[in-house]
Order: sequence, then structure tokens, then C-alpha cells
Amino acid sequence: MDPDKYYPFKAAPLAYDIKALCPDISEYTMYFHHDKHYCGYVDKLNGLIKNSPLMQNIPLEGLAMLDDDDIRKNAGGVYNHEMYFSSLTPQYREPSAKMIKKMNESFGSAEKMMSSLAGAAMDITGSGWVWLAENRNGRLEILVTKDQDIIDPDKYSPLLNIDLWEHAYYLDRQNRRNEYIQAVMNSINWIGAENRMKDI
Ligand code: MN
Repeated sequence: MDPDKYYPFKAAPLAYDIKALCPDISEYTMYFHHDKHYCGYVDKLNGLIKNSPLMQNIPLEGLAMLDDDDIRKNAGGVYNHEMYFSSLTPQYREPSAKMIKKMNESFGSAEKMMSSLAGAAMDITGSGWVWLAENRNGRLEILVTKDQDIIDPDKYSPLLNIDLWEHAYYLDRQNRRNEYIQAVMNSINWIGAENRMKDI
């Protein structure tokens, strides 16, 4: 996940096999989500700015914060999905002692942080994202964004996100969003999240 990359954008391959998260997230879901939805955002974003040297000089993160609806939406679609796929891992490891300490300081306990994250994911209406982020005071916060909006990079370092668009789970789970959220919680890449922390 590189927020500073520039046009022409290239789709990042999955860091794990497309079947690696089965049965939590099926190959079928991962194929449509990565190869169709995410790659579609990459293609649309490239198409939108192919004739605009001005836009080509703005990094992905900046494009995802623009007022232009089409560019913002598609840049956000690229940014958010790259964060999402790298927020998951087939080799789950518990958060490190350093991350647990940070969770304790910010939420009282790791369990409270986990239940707040899952609860925020359950509570989203419409399409959107839940984030675990580190604020500029070094505290962890749970944030929600709508559609393909990103979190403000001037205020937060994103550590991980969860996709709550229906395409993320409907093929596998239909209306059982709680099962999908549990599947994601069992697959969070805590090492990747920790590597994104600035206050270490
Ligand atoms: Mn998605």
C-alpha cells in the first residue's frame, strides 16, 4: 500500500493466494473483489486523468481528497482496496505486546478495541469503510467513512480498514454481515497494521 504513488496506476497483486483466506472469504468473492471491483477502479482512475498532466502530478492520496466527484471516488476506490487487501492475511498472528499496549491506552483493553471495531462495522448503513487509525497524538481511533472516502491523511495514519460494501461479503454470506466481520477479525494482518504506526 503506497499512498504516494502516481499515474499511471497499476493494480497491486494480492500478497497471498486468491484461495488463501478460504473458507473465511471465498476464492469467488476474492476474484470479483480484487480482479473486477478493485482493478476496475484502477482502470477508471487512469482513464479519467489520462489527458490531465495536472492530475497526473497529484499522488493517489491527494486525488482521493479532491472535490471532483469522479476522480475522488475512483482514487478512493484504489486507495481503500489496497489498504483492505493488505489488512488481511492467511497467517493470522495476535497483535504484538506493543500493539496491545497501544490498544490498552486508547480503549482500556484489546478486547474493547476489537469489539468497538466489529461494532462499528455492524453499525454502518449503506456502503462504507471502518478504519483503525492512529491520530497525531499517537492514540488509536476507530473511524467510519462513506462510499469511497478515505480518512484525512493530515490527521490520521490509517493502520487497517474493513470493506463494508455488500460486494465484500454478499456472495459468501448474503445478509449475514456479522459472519463476514468475524471472518475479517480472524484474518487481520496485525503485523502490517503495526508497521504503519508512526508513533513507535
Ligand atoms: Mn470493495
